[in-house]
Amino acid sequence: MRQSGSYTSRRRPLIAGNWKMHGMLDEAQQFVADLGNIASPDQVEVALMPPYTLLHPLSELLRQKGIQLGAQNVYYEPKGAFTGSISPLMLRDAGCRYVILAHSERRDIMGEANELIGKKLAAAWSAGLEPILCIGEHLEERQDGETNAVLRRQLAVLEDAPEGAALTVAYEPVWAIGTGLTASPEQVTETHAFIHEELTRLGHDCRVLYGGSVKPENAAELMACPGVEGALVGGASLQADSFMKIVQAAADVAAGE
Ligand code: PEP
Repeated sequence: MRQSGSYTSRRRPLIAGNWKMHGMLDEAQQFVADLGNIASPDQVEVALMPPYTLLHPLSELLRQKGIQLGAQNVYYEPKGAFTGSISPLMLRDAGCRYVILAHSERRDIMGEANELIGKKLAAAWSAGLEPILCIGEHLEERQDGETNAVLRRQLAVLEDAPEGAALTVAYEPVWAIGTGLTASPEQVTETHAFIHEELTRLGHDCRVLYGGSVKPENAAELMACPGVEGALVGGASLQADSFMKIVQAAADVAAGE
């Protein structure tokens, strides 16, 4: 059991790598080769979210290393005339356990809003996928004291969620994604406490990851914050070496070292 401050978690933390729109087949094969004989430690669950084109080729290779597979997005219809879209069952067919939903890049660049996100959540659950629901505020919202109100609005998509639905939430302050800026341990602790409170109010008791410029150098400090049960890692997940250092830091924290 991991005990951090007033928050106690019996769940295994998850370290998930979001490759975004990066990765050719040869690079993915090199990544797996670079993992060598490193097995994922028992204390943490490890997952990788490569682009769609790499799901099938990586599925078996990652399974052999005890690493879970996930996708970065999904459409909500099961099949049909939706050119360019991928369905939840296709992700299952490719070996996915997880799907990232509502990443800030999809909210901000593709204009995804709660109505669409709610449909995708429902579709993911009915196909047996575990969504990793991303939430997070922009810098101006934090500066205006709006952080909790923004997060509450984003979490409202869970109001109609089926009881006990498999779920992970990722708190990713938008100003910390890909910028090299990380939230301070105080900001992370305070915000994760609010998210857990809000999730309890909505009837969910699930892991809450932190995401935003997590690197080998700051992973231990961030993973030790109360209420943090893993990380969603972008840039630092592209190299096996830095990704596995983050995994090891999380394992050490979980083991109480
Ligand atoms: C992300 O893509 O979810 C992310 C947190 O990216 P980075 O680690 O590069 O900030």
